[in-house]
Amino acid sequence: MTQVHQLYKLQETDTEIREKTQRLREVLAGQQPSAELLAARERRDTAVTTLQEWQTRHKNLRLEMESLRREAKNAETRLYSGKVTNPKELADLQHKIESLGRRIEKAEEKVLEAMIMLEDAETEETAAAESLAEIEADWEAKAALLKIEQNELALSIHKLNGVRQEQAKTIDSRDLKEYEALMKKKNGKAIARVRADTCLGCRLTISANKIKEAREGKKIYCGSCGRILYPY
Ligand SMILES: [Zn+2]
Repeated sequence: MTQVHQLYKLQETDTEIREKTQRLREVLAGQQPSAELLAARERRDTAVTTLQEWQTRHKNLRLEMESLRREAKNAETRLYSGKVTNPKELADLQHKIESLGRRIEKAEEKVLEAMIMLEDAETEETAAAESLAEIEADWEAKAALLKIEQNELALSIHKLNGVRQEQAKTIDSRDLKEYEALMKKKNGKAIARVRADTCLGCRLTISANKIKEAREGKKIYCGSCGRILYPY
């Protein structure tokens, strides 16, 4: 195996490590809660809070209404008990009962309104919880698959790093340094294959003489992009 061939093999390993590392980043990011999931959680939380508010409000209004009803009932009992004979007191009682009647009517309206709001809040809370459960289940299934892929990628990258170490050992240290510098400069591609008479690094033509020399195992550079030519 020529040095260029070994470098080409090393580049294949490096490319695979780079691609798998990139995929690993995506896979890790993909396990973060999605915007859809966050929105569904927020909707459910808001729905729960709103529902609790209306439950409290409805309960308080009902207590208020019941208290007014009790008060009115007591006043009526007293009015018809025959114990009150003073005309002024009787008139006051009657007046009080009428006033309470109006307040009870208003309180009943408020209870009814709160009841409607409460029912709406219950409907929304149910819908929000169902939607969240569905989105959460989808996300969990997706995250579980990504977790499996993450483990596979991590293992694969670990193995490839071992392969790379072994490959690098067989390469002259100056060649290795040059290769690594070229990798950085040339967008992760230091060695370019040649198809017919074209450098696949830059798609420009290589002279027949250069191709011949490269095939003889010499280290030849593309005159246009500066990559090392691998003429196979
Ligand atoms: Zn080139």
